[in-house]
Amino acid sequence: MKFNNLGLIPLLLQAVNDKGYTNPSPIQKKAIPLILKRKDVLASAQTGTGKTAGFTLPLLQILSKKSISHHRKIRALILTPTRELAAQIYDNVFEYSKYLELRSTVIFGGVNQNPQVSKIRNGIDILIATPGRLLDLENQRLLSLRNVEILVLDEADRMLDMGFQRDINKIMNLLPINRQNLLFSATFSKEIKKLAKGILNNPVMVETSPQNTTVEAIIQYVYKVDKSKKSSLIIQLIKEGNWKQVLVFTRTKHGANNLCKK
Ligand code: AMP
Repeated sequence: MKFNNLGLIPLLLQAVNDKGYTNPSPIQKKAIPLILKRKDVLASAQTGTGKTAGFTLPLLQILSKKSISHHRKIRALILTPTRELAAQIYDNVFEYSKYLELRSTVIFGGVNQNPQVSKIRNGIDILIATPGRLLDLENQRLLSLRNVEILVLDEADRMLDMGFQRDINKIMNLLPINRQNLLFSATFSKEIKKLAKGILNNPVMVETSPQNTTVEAIIQYVYKVDKSKKSSLIIQLIKEGNWKQVLVFTRTKHGANNLCKK
C-alpha cells in the first residue's frame, strides 16, 4: 500500500514525499483512514513506529477542511509527557503542514512562558503541550481549550508513569464534550484501559504488535539468587556460555560501574 491510497490530500502527500518516505508504516496504514473517518482511536504504538505522522497527517487534513477564521482558535491539542517529545512532535507538525494554512506552536515547562504566550496570542490552530505548562497558562487565562475539536494523548502510559493522571483529568474538564479523541500508548495496563474508557467514545483499537508481549524469538530465563551473589553469577554465565556480546541492565549507575569493573 502506498501513501496515496490512504485518502490523504495532495498537499499532505507532497509534504510526505519531501520527507522521502515511500511506504506508510503499519500504524500509519491502519490509523490514518480511521482518523479521517473521525473515529476515536486507541492505538498501541511505540516510539519509532511512525506514530507521529500516523496522527499528525489526518489531523492536519481534518483541520484544513474548514476555512480558517480571522481569529484563530486552538482546534487540536496534542498532549505529551516530556518537553523533548513535545518539541519532536512540533517539528513533525511544522514539516507536514508546510503547504497548508495552519499554524502550530509548542509549550512546555522549565523555560520562560512569554515567548510561548505571544505565539498563542498571535493565533494558532494546533497546540502541542506538556500537561503542567498547559494548565499553568490556562489558569492564567492565557489560552482557551473551549474550541478543541481533536485531542491526542501521546505516550499515555508514560504520562501516567510520570504522575500526570490528575492533570489529565483537569485538562479533560476544560475541553468541549464533543470532540475526536486519539490515544497512543506503548503498553496497555489496567490504568491505561481505565483512562481510555473515561476519555474515548466507542474507540477503534489499532494494534501493530500484540499487546504487552515479548519478542517470540527471545527465550527468557530467571535466576533466583542472593543479592551478594548476583555479580559472580553473571560473570559465571558469561564465561560458561562463552558469550561474546552481552547487554546488561542494572538499576543504578553506581551498580553498573561496579559490575563493569568486576
Ligand atoms: P515516530 O515513531 O513518529 O517517532 O517516527 C519515527 C521515525 O520514523 C521518524 O524519524 C519519522 O520521521 C520516520 N517515519 C515516519 N513515517 C515514516 C515512513 N512512512 N517511512 C519512513 N520513515 C518514517
